[in-house]
Formats: sequence, structure tokens, C-alpha cells
Amino acid sequence: MNNIADNIQKIHARINNACQISGRNPEEVKLVAVSKIKPADMIEEAFHSGQKIFGESYVQEFRDKHPLVSAPVEWHFIGGLQSNKVKYLRGKVSTIHSVDRLSLAQEIDRQWGKTDKTVDIFLQVNVGDESSKAGCSPEELESLVRSVAPLPNLKIKGLMCLPPHFDDPELVRPFFKQLKELAEQINNLHLPAVSMDELSMGMSGDFEVAVEEGATFVRIGTAIFGARTKKA
Ligand SMILES: *Cc1c(COP(=O)(O)O)cnc(C)c1O
Repeated sequence: MNNIADNIQKIHARINNACQISGRNPEEVKLVAVSKIKPADMIEEAFHSGQKIFGESYVQEFRDKHPLVSAPVEWHFIGGLQSNKVKYLRGKVSTIHSVDRLSLAQEIDRQWGKTDKTVDIFLQVNVGDESSKAGCSPEELESLVRSVAPLPNLKIKGLMCLPPHFDDPELVRPFFKQLKELAEQINNLHLPAVSMDELSMGMSGDFEVAVEEGATFVRIGTAIFGARTKKA
């Protein structure tokens, strides 16, 4: 009996079901296994069950854990990020989901300029207008896109949100709809080299609704690895 493999399989079945309900192709939806606070051996175990992409939220923890994972996983950074810590992610992550201000994007661009790669980013939008959450406001988004898009060492893939929590995932649906609408509004501006094709939204408690509303990356921790004990 392998819990992690079982859990991943069940999540794929639920994603497939949500795709069927909404007429989407399940291949459009990628699963980010959120492994924050979980040990390297659980990541290896998930990798050997077929999981490729792992999401981390804390820079220091990622620095410590990254060398312990020998499987060729694809790392995404999904958490709050201070500019002075971007250097620790340089070259190690393919994607950063939590870019919410120009100064951070500029530092990411500067750091990846020292490598021969580019990094994919998502712009995080605070759709719930919650003071406790990161993300640019919907009103600031267009100007953020206009200033970030020309940076040469990163590529904007789309938008990300961390909406307010509700026990009933139906109550989160309007926030997912709003993120999709914002992406469409930006696409309709036809800015050079800007296309918001991806939406990073949906977590353990609400990912099916997110998929129904167009998520292309769901970020799921608890439903794969079990509950997290609080970070010290
Ligand atoms: C922790 C975290 C998740 C995963 O949350 P679960 O409820 O455990 O699935 C997703 N996105 C972000 C940004 C997170 O910090």
C-alpha cells in the first residue's frame, strides 16, 4: 500500500472528472505537488510514482532540501519571495508563481541574466483584496504586465491567485472566474510578446472548481502528502 502514489492517482482521477464536466482536455492541467515542510524522501517517492513538478514555498527550506533530492524533478517556487533571496533560486527552479511587483521581477531578471536560461513566471493577483495576502491588485495588473513583459530573462506565462479560504469550494468559484477574466482582458490588449495562456489556481480544498474555471496548474500539497505540521 503506497499512500502517496494512491493520492496522486486519485487527484488525477478528480482532475479528469472536472475536465469532463467542463469540456476540457485533462492534458491542459498540470499538477504541482506542493512539498513544503515535507522531507526529500517523500518527494522521491512521489517522483517514482510519476509526479514530475514540485512546488516549494520557503527559500531557506528549499536551499536545504534541494541537494537532498537526487531525482530529476522540476522545481517551481510558489511562496512569498523577498528580492534578496532570489539568488538562491537562480538556475534551480523553472518557474516562479508568486511575482507580484516590478522590483521582484527585475531582480529575477537580473539573477537569471547570469545563467543561460530564462525562467517562467506567473503574476500573482490578490483577487480577494485581502490585506494578509500577497499579490498585486486587479487595478495594478495591467501596468505590472507592461513593465515586466520586456524583461529579457523571464517569460510571463499567466496569472496566479491564492483566493480567500472557504470550506465550501463553490464560494471560491467567483475568484477563479475573476482571474480568468483578468487574463482575457490582458490578452485583449495584444501587448507585444504577452500571452496569458496559463492559470495557476486551485489547492487541495478547491482544485476541481479551479479546473472547471480554467486552471492549467493546480498546486496541491495536503491531498498528496498529508497534513503539514506548522512551520517553525
Ligand atoms: C501550501 C500552498 C499550496 C498547497 O496547499 P494545500 O491546501 O496543502 O493543497 C498551494 N499554493 C500555495 C501558494 C501554497 O503556499
